[in-house]
Amino acid sequence: MAAYLYRCPACGPWEVRRPIGTAQAEERCPSCGDTGRRVYTAPLLARTPAPLAAARSREEASADAPAVTTAVPPAPRRPVRRDPRWSALPRP
Ligand SMILES: [Zn+2]
Repeated sequence: MAAYLYRCPACGPWEVRRPIGTAQAEERCPSCGDTGRRVYTAPLLARTPAPLAAARSREEASADAPAVTTAVPPAPRRPVRRDPRWSALPRP
């Protein structure tokens, strides 16, 4: 079902629910019985922020096909601590 908007010149707009594609160009006004013309409006478009849309997309993807680890990740490299006294030693 879709909601189609019509406007009566005397009474104003009203909404008619019908199956998609069955809207008429004119409808009878429920208040006065006069004919009202169909008004074309923008469909119900959602303007979702991009970060939220990306998070929802990742959430849906992880529900169906979660990322699977196939190998052990490499160990993090430890920083080498050098003793400052070693710099005073002779080098080969
Ligand atoms: Zn009317």
